[in-house]
Amino acid sequence: MTVKKTGNIYPNIFRFNLGNFEITTILDGLVQRDGPYPIFGQNKDEEDVHKLCKQNFLPEKKFEHGFTPLIINTGNEIILFDTGNGKLNEENGKLIDLIEYSGYRHEDISKIVITHCHPDHIGGLMYIEDGYFKNASIIIGEVEYESWKTGKNIPDQRKANKELFEKICMPLSDRMEFIRPDQDVVTGITAVNGFGHSPGHMCYSIESDNKSLFFAADITNHFVVSMQVPDWHVMFDDNKEMAVESRKRILSMLASSKIPMIGYHMPFPAIGFVEKNSSPGYNWVPVSYQLSF
Ligand SMILES: [Zn+2]
Repeated sequence: MTVKKTGNIYPNIFRFNLGNFEITTILDGLVQRDGPYPIFGQNKDEEDVHKLCKQNFLPEKKFEHGFTPLIINTGNEIILFDTGNGKLNEENGKLIDLIEYSGYRHEDISKIVITHCHPDHIGGLMYIEDGYFKNASIIIGEVEYESWKTGKNIPDQRKANKELFEKICMPLSDRMEFIRPDQDVVTGITAVNGFGHSPGHMCYSIESDNKSLFFAADITNHFVVSMQVPDWHVMFDDNKEMAVESRKRILSMLASSKIPMIGYHMPFPAIGFVEKNSSPGYNWVPVSYQLSF
């Protein structure tokens, strides 16, 4: 007898309460790539990166990462943070189906917050032309929007990304609101300067009824390399030194405050704690049942 295999199954929706907020992480997709070197540890020897992977039970020449948009139901409104790959990658753009599957309706989303304008974060804005998210305003960092619009501080390697920004984001400018670090999206959700990964990359601090959480977006893009050696350069960081400075500042804050973080490219459900280790870096401690209480 032959029994048919069904293919891999991977969890893709995770929901919990934070004070009066209901938080949902959604896995828009997963990719496998060659690496982590030279995407991670670009300024190091390949052997150094292999050694770190091996020590952490990871393959040396392959890695996988997900794309994890976030939904916050504040009780008054539904806010989506980042939009995944959208139509840029049909295999990965699962956001729309998963929003519905999670019990929300895309038309009930009142705000879409874009942390930065790299393709895997703005791709889902392309659904707007098909009538999705019709009641949502779009919130984007002022520095981020201006940088992509003018091309200032956009490296050559992001030329195609700039064209994508012009195609996807600029036609939506009349629906946009611009935000600066330390300003609130709504009460309890505050923008934090995370500049460097992109010129105006923003993180968000989330607080409800004395419970806290931090959406770090792309401050750390590999749960081992970016955490354990935060000063190693990352190919995806548009300004390497500024990205290192932001990464170290935010990881240090999260380690000392013990506030859990959500990272857009961390292993799903993409939530964990940041623990200071004995070397000058940090360990990623994936969440288990801490958020059930
Ligand atoms: Zn990203």
